[in-house]
Amino acid sequence: MSGHRTTKVLIIGSGPAGYSAGVYASRAMLQPILLQGIEPGGQLTTTTEVENWPGDTSVQGPDLMVRMESHARAMGCEIIQDQVTRLELGNRPFVAHGDSGTLYTAPAIILATGARAKWLGLESEEKFKGFGVSACATCDGFFFRDQEIVVIGGGNTAVEEALFLTNFASKVTLVHRRDSLRAEKVLQERLFAHPKIECLWFHTLEQVLGSDNPRGVEAVALRNIETGEMSQRPAKGVFIAIGHSPANELVIDSLETHLGGYVVTKPDSTETSIPGVFAAGDLTDHRYRQAVTSAGMGCMAALEAERFLAEGNFSQ
Ligand code: NAP
Repeated sequence: MSGHRTTKVLIIGSGPAGYSAGVYASRAMLQPILLQGIEPGGQLTTTTEVENWPGDTSVQGPDLMVRMESHARAMGCEIIQDQVTRLELGNRPFVAHGDSGTLYTAPAIILATGARAKWLGLESEEKFKGFGVSACATCDGFFFRDQEIVVIGGGNTAVEEALFLTNFASKVTLVHRRDSLRAEKVLQERLFAHPKIECLWFHTLEQVLGSDNPRGVEAVALRNIETGEMSQRPAKGVFIAIGHSPANELVIDSLETHLGGYVVTKPDSTETSIPGVFAAGDLTDHRYRQAVTSAGMGCMAALEAERFLAEGNFSQ
């Protein structure tokens, strides 16, 4: 597909921020176009149970995202699967280049590209990615039925992944560099009570050990950061859950960023350093990073885009 589409508001990203912006911009009669990338629904599609989305005591992350997408569509948001490869923000209307060859132009853009999992940067981690090393338990946990698994990290993601992996693994070892977790207390309680989970404090992953033919993980080499002592543990799966970084590649050279790449927005606003460009969700939020806060920011971005256009910034 190639061609040229124009819209008043272009929304890039399909997590809670993007879909909420789609709902609000549609109800403001702005006929927005929302572009989904290669992972429609974003990070929540790689989680299982979500227990902190208001109105649902428990909902599966992928189901929640399907509902959000349907809601945005029902309100009139046009949703297109097309990965944006380049954004021109130098002049208005702004131009987004889709992987399909289509050009999208709009006088207002809402960026909701989210964040993605961080890696440790070890050579052996890279070598065994997809062969036992993963950053997504819901995607890959199934492959480790009755095997020993190691999870690295101490935040919500690490604890949720460790708990989820007990559905498959014979044993899960959570390896953390400190002796306390960042994860919510309710998750910590579940973790500590689980008979299949062991926590290994003050340890870091130094190397993933495995075989070449067939390629696969056999063990991990760990370092005790208090004593410097090295040890090995058998493991068929290694899940890296050490946080996320903002997906800012499209705007890193054009928008102001801070704190490791988060897009700067004005206080109490989603306005970025370029008038008409709004940012919402994990791309800009280094503090809360919750589905509900992302959705709130998507709402703010749509309301601010509506006001921006109402002030006469129409050129398309
Ligand atoms: P996070 O809260 O930033 O935690 C990252 C963890 O990885 C920390 O424990 C950190 O250790 C550890 N870490 C970071 N770099 C490391 C390194 N190089 N080597 C070893 N360990 C390293 O990230 P997250 O768990 O992915 O969560 C991200 C955000 O999403 C958070 O705001 C979280 O609350 C939210 N989230 C919420 C839910 C939920 O509400 N159910 C689920 C998932 C995520 P230190 O503790 O020592 O810094």
